[in-house]
Amino acid sequence: MTLLTANSPTAELQALDAAHHMHPFTHGQELGAKGARVITRAEGCWLTDSDGNRILDAMAGLWCVNVGYGRKELAEVAARQMQELPFYNTFFQTTHVPALNLAAKLAELAPGDLNHVFFAGSGSEANDTNLRMVRTYWAEKGQPQRDVIISRWNAYHGSSVGSGSLGGMKGIHMQGGLPIPGVHHIDQPNWWSEGGYSTPEAFGLERARALEAAILEIGPDRVAAFIAEPVQGAGGVIVPPETYWPEVQKIVDKYGILLIADEVICGFGRTGEWFGSQTMGIRPDIMTVAKGLSSGYIPIGGSIVSDEVASVIGNTEFNHGYTYSGHPVACAVALENLRIIEEEGLVEKVRDDTGVYLRERFESLTDHPMVGEAKIVGMMGSIALTPQKETRAPFKAEAGTVGFKVRERCFANNLIMRHVGDRMIISPPLVISREEIDTLIERAWQSLDEGYAAVK
Ligand code: PLP
Repeated sequence: MTLLTANSPTAELQALDAAHHMHPFTHGQELGAKGARVITRAEGCWLTDSDGNRILDAMAGLWCVNVGYGRKELAEVAARQMQELPFYNTFFQTTHVPALNLAAKLAELAPGDLNHVFFAGSGSEANDTNLRMVRTYWAEKGQPQRDVIISRWNAYHGSSVGSGSLGGMKGIHMQGGLPIPGVHHIDQPNWWSEGGYSTPEAFGLERARALEAAILEIGPDRVAAFIAEPVQGAGGVIVPPETYWPEVQKIVDKYGILLIADEVICGFGRTGEWFGSQTMGIRPDIMTVAKGLSSGYIPIGGSIVSDEVASVIGNTEFNHGYTYSGHPVACAVALENLRIIEEEGLVEKVRDDTGVYLRERFESLTDHPMVGEAKIVGMMGSIALTPQKETRAPFKAEAGTVGFKVRERCFANNLIMRHVGDRMIISPPLVISREEIDTLIERAWQSLDEGYAAVK
């Protein structure tokens, strides 16, 4: 066959794609009728599609391109590593330089005594590791009955059998017989949508105490761990009330259960600290990482684990691992990516500089008649759409219809924003400039106006 190129006509690219390529989280027939948007190049915060449009990517790909697109250093490191040692595994008492360096670097960056890393190829795989690791931990401690993991509805921890079960997305559970046994879901701290009867502070406490109620219902000696994203991402960037995390930390301490912070989105500067756990003031026993670890340039994920958990797991042979655990090219790229984040002060930029500007501009979207709330932590934010701000009423149309419309208008206006139901979300590259932030807000406003006109 003749391979197509980035310069081939859009219709040809779309036809070949529709014929053979099955897309994640996509309705195949709807896409087939419409044709996929074909992205051909990217630089900084900007994508180019096969029609030559330049599109501002306010989602950093899938929340991952923290250092922006087009970083030659990352490509060069990958090429060098491929020539030196393109692959070797880390099974059976073997290691290599990129993996040991990256593990040590992550131990340096991670808070507290999170000093040990188990590598995976993705966030889903890392959460599968966590599921097995916490159960193995308790079994090794002579408490094998502690096998229940508590999670939250509307959490996203991946879409493999294990991680999809840990997550609380009903759309995922519906397909393929999930969740697996031993995962219990509690309600999320989504004050805007679910807490209107109460203050954010009281609601935050109420939703945290749902964890204690679940522990008591299941039996404190049965619960292995609680897993949560410091700020829920794919669920719609749900920023918890300030009272939530301190209360959760108290509860996990009280019952001695492990806390797993899923930092796949929040990690590596996204929230204005290296990790969302630092922003939220929590002390996890395990952190899941992926995405921003390599800025998405190459697949890699991992679990960063405390001294205590690592030492207990070290008492046995942990029969777990992936061919690509600690892949040398991925580790080399991740190390270089971390160097860029450090040298360019991107975490500080998010906390003290452009992140502050983004917050001001993003929060001004609440002046729009269709925006009920705007919430943002560092460089992850969301706005809630509503036809009536005072009552937070939902739209008459089925949930998500208006969000989808606004997202389509964003596309038409060359801005990538995602919608989760009737929330619109952003998570731009951390290198976004003030001018680009202005463009983002202008295009978002225009898209809201056009969406509003369509539903009014
Ligand atoms: N955990 C969180 C919080 C995520 O947002 C994601 C992906 O979006 C995952 C886990 C799964 O990561 P991956 O898609 O790399 O498997």
